[in-house]
Amino acid sequence: MLFSTPGSYQPFFILRDERGECCFFLTSELISNLNSYFEPPPRRCGLEHALGILSLSTKYEVVYLKRRALSHLATAYPSTLDGWRNRLDFSTFQPISEYCIPYARTNIPKSLSVLKILNQVGATWLLPAAFYECCKYDLKDLITNPAWMDGFDDGLKNTILIGYNKQVQEARRILRFLHCPPNGNCGQPSVCLEVRRQHADSSFSSWDMNDPFSIWDAGDWDLLEEMCGPCIVASKRIHAEDCAELWNRLPSLYNLPTWEKMMELRDSSML
Ligand SMILES: [Zn+2]
Repeated sequence: MLFSTPGSYQPFFILRDERGECCFFLTSELISNLNSYFEPPPRRCGLEHALGILSLSTKYEVVYLKRRALSHLATAYPSTLDGWRNRLDFSTFQPISEYCIPYARTNIPKSLSVLKILNQVGATWLLPAAFYECCKYDLKDLITNPAWMDGFDDGLKNTILIGYNKQVQEARRILRFLHCPPNGNCGQPSVCLEVRRQHADSSFSSWDMNDPFSIWDAGDWDLLEEMCGPCIVASKRIHAEDCAELWNRLPSLYNLPTWEKMMELRDSSML
């Protein structure tokens, strides 16, 4: 972008960056003292807005804008399972969440852009949720999208494809409570076993096998209402424990450091 002012001796400068990113960044930088153009959370912003400012504030070392952009992005790409499950409420922008409906594929370029920029600026603690989001798309839609085919980073592509396969495997593990033997206090073992078996069969053919945290959601417990009380309690406990355990291991699905190490990096980056 070229900026100039009238007059022979007025300075001008050239930024060889994306036009949209420049507009967000320069507006934030030039008028941040005049109004609330890019305030930190809980103020609202836009995803492209936060990404553009993150990219250029890192490049031009405007630390306070980088911190704000990272804070906004962390509301939709959290480091906790609770944050992930409630991202529609917590996020300061509209998170990418429309999957498995006809227009979902239109969001693929956004998810790839999130991964690309977070990776470029070294915000690794935001990457597990971003990779998870990306691996929720239909695989064919993902790898045939122009944003994937036209120069997207090969290393990120490999991580996504490997992570995709692992997420499907993890979904099977998350449903293991449907295969557990009846609870020791079960009063109707044959009934409880049959209820589990029926729903295990239907769940394993589910369309969201690449989304282990959603493949069995809160409303699905109603499907098991014919089971006895002790079996339902035991099933909910096993499911909750397995989800928490998977979240703890989530970075390893994408060849990232542990949450603990990434939190140390986050804390040092946000000082
Ligand atoms: Zn039972």
